[in-house]
Amino acid sequence: MSDNKGVLVYGEVIEGKLSGMAAELLGCGRKLADDLGQELSAVLVGSEVSGLAQEAVAAGADKVYVVEDSLLEDYQTDTYVSVMEKVAGQAMPQVIILGQTSVGRDLAPRLAFRLGTAATMDCVALSIDPDSKRLQQTKPVYGGNAQAIYTTDTDPQIVTVRAKVMEPLAPDAGRKGEVINVEAGLDAAAIKTTVLEKVKEEVEGIKLEDAVVVISGGRGIGGAEGFAQLQELAKLFKGAVGASRPACDNEWIPDTQQVGLTGKIVTPDLYIAVGISGASQHLAGCSSSKTMIAINKDPEANIFREAQYGVVGDWKKVFPAFAEKVKELLAG
Ligand SMILES: Cc1cc2nc3c(=O)[nH]c(=O)nc-3n(C[C@H](O)[C@H](O)[C@H](O)COP(=O)(O)OP(=O)(O)OC[C@H]3O[C@@H](n4cnc5c(N)ncnc54)[C@H](O)[C@@H]3O)c2cc1C
Repeated sequence: MSDNKGVLVYGEVIEGKLSGMAAELLGCGRKLADDLGQELSAVLVGSEVSGLAQEAVAAGADKVYVVEDSLLEDYQTDTYVSVMEKVAGQAMPQVIILGQTSVGRDLAPRLAFRLGTAATMDCVALSIDPDSKRLQQTKPVYGGNAQAIYTTDTDPQIVTVRAKVMEPLAPDAGRKGEVINVEAGLDAAAIKTTVLEKVKEEVEGIKLEDAVVVISGGRGIGGAEGFAQLQELAKLFKGAVGASRPACDNEWIPDTQQVGLTGKIVTPDLYIAVGISGASQHLAGCSSSKTMIAINKDPEANIFREAQYGVVGDWKKVFPAFAEKVKELLAG
């Protein structure tokens, strides 16, 4: 058993703001730290992040490690892994939690390697085993068809957590915490990569990952025109349109909207799958949706095994009637 103590959350900063994911992780980290009877720390890394420390405290942290350096303006693997290794060495946490974001996916395994431990990616539940006091890490396996619980024998136990599966705490502006500034100690000459350009993904309306309602279409939609119908209903719900891989491959919808193993992972309150068979690679991206409705003409389609509600029929007939009813209900 190591001497490591406490829970450390990597607080991702996006465009100068503490991300929603950071607040979710601090909410979950708070509970784990309390169950361990230990402290919850956050680490903020960037060029101008010290102003966010109190926000992290308000979200549940007891301590905030701030690593501020102009060389950390953009996420770069080598600089961020290096400062995270430094902070982990100073904080000596028992558990490190990151988000299952593009940054977390990149950072967690590399950090684990540097610290001689393991990373469990894409967890959907975390708890402390009351006997062993080790972190129980639940994650979907076999494309979301089953869930497995992992434990890590080495410290720190590093995990990434899927978006929107943890609840943030209500911010408490009166909470007090300690801020610890850490020197990045970076050597500009040793940085192997340079950011040449940043291209911002243009999203019309709500981002797929943030949407409370997602309406996804698959090969059964048959063309881009069909997606316009899905878009119309998604707008009414203030939701977003997703897609299966074939729909993206056919360029009926941009591939930024792909849901699944090689696309985005979504966890909306309502997922409506239209003309989607329910392949495991698609379900890997939507199986944590709170409620799923499927429309498919094949009664044997696998999607009906996942969905709580299903309509067997041609979507061209079913969907307009469904959309009409939704309009009526939302208007009333
Ligand atoms: C490594 C790997 C990664 C992958 N990653 C992803 C991923 O991230 N996301 C993803 O989606 N897929 C992914 N795939 C592909 C995946 O295996 C499936 O091929 C894909 O999800 C199927 O998409 P689909 O359901 O739209 O098409 P199909 O499987 O062809 O299903 C179409 C469905 O539409 C129904 N249908 C047809 N016409 C109508 C109609 N008029 N009305 C109602 N229903 C109708 C059919 O009954 C059928 O069930 C991946 C595959 C691999 C090997």
